[in-house]
Amino acid sequence: MIGEFQKLEKNSNRSLVVFLSMVIILASILFFTVFLTSNFKMFFAEQAKENAYLESMLILHKVNQQAEPPLELKSYKKSSEHQIYLLDHSLNLIASTEQNVTGGKHSFDLKEAGLSKYKEKILSQTIFFATDKKNEFYIFFAPVSDNKFILISKIPVKPLFSAKNFLFDRIAFIPATFFIIVIILVSIFVVILMALEQRKREKVEAESLTDPLTKIYNRRYFDKALHLEFSRMKREKKPISFIMIDIDHFKKYNDTYGHSQGDELLKVIAKIFTKCVRRGGDFVARLGGEEFGILLANTDKEGAVKVAETVLSMVEKTKVQVKGTAHQTSVNISLGVASFIPQDDESPEMLYGIADDMLYKAKASGRGRVCH
Ligand code: GH3
Ligand code: MG
Ligand code: MG
Repeated sequence: MIGEFQKLEKNSNRSLVVFLSMVIILASILFFTVFLTSNFKMFFAEQAKENAYLESMLILHKVNQQAEPPLELKSYKKSSEHQIYLLDHSLNLIASTEQNVTGGKHSFDLKEAGLSKYKEKILSQTIFFATDKKNEFYIFFAPVSDNKFILISKIPVKPLFSAKNFLFDRIAFIPATFFIIVIILVSIFVVILMALEQRKREKVEAESLTDPLTKIYNRRYFDKALHLEFSRMKREKKPISFIMIDIDHFKKYNDTYGHSQGDELLKVIAKIFTKCVRRGGDFVARLGGEEFGILLANTDKEGAVKVAETVLSMVEKTKVQVKGTAHQTSVNISLGVASFIPQDDESPEMLYGIADDMLYKAKASGRGRVCH
């Protein structure tokens, strides 16, 4: 029976650990998925920027060498409205149009745009931009003579590459991280609440099975355990023993020393019983008033009588101090032992009944003894 309760407790602890682990694993997977996708996006954005940058530098170089206007100018076509961003190699914004524009003239600070070395060649601060025929590139160009232009940059229109989108990727990462942290915190909070709730339930359950005065098992627990162990011994065809114990002349003890001293004695006696019963599966319970029971599974009559006599002699030897005085008291107990290998037609009540009869016999034959 005790084992059953321990098993129940272990199982609930295990499911709590499994739940906690699942939450942590799921949250980690979610976190790393978002983290990695977000980082991959950044990586691809970097790649796209890199390629476009190299390409534009190549064209710029070629155009400067040949001092010819880029072909794209001839096929210039107005695009839909965009705010244009000119980025440097590290994706820093070096210049942008102030609002959505369709193309045309726009003033950039040449120095800011990193074009100071072309200052002598470029005629004015005015840089033209347009999109190509297929609307795939933004083309930045500046006049170098009345009818000649220099291509400054050619960057893809692709949304992945735009500064706006790149910033969005970074910004999207923050709420995603925040969301995951919230999930983890809420999960931890829920698990802690569940654990506290569980502990509370276990405490209430333990309290409902314990005698508040002596802190040993109560009658409720004893009845459950007796039925369980009786069936187990019946199945295993092994003996079960039950010792019923009653304090002798306890009413007189109470009358002489007071009820609270009587309580004190009950606590001391209960401790002695617990000390005498150490084997797993055996246990002591307070059956009510000054009556106690010891259930010994897988123990024959000989063994049970031995336990009963040990208990008797230990109680006889015990002196209990009367509170606030130098006076010491002692009590005696009577014990009835029942023991048998349960047969199919036998019930726990029979075991209980025999022990009760034996206890009566012990009382009737002078008290302070074991009858079996
Ligand atoms: P016997 O030897 O025949 O068993 O006599 P007894 O006086 O022990 O038995 P009886 O049934 O006449 O009285 C039992 C007494 O146990 C009555 C009651 O005062 C006392 N008792 C029962 N429960 C408690 C308890 O929780 N605390 C205290 N202090 N006394 C209790
Ligand atoms: Mg009694
Ligand atoms: Mg009594």
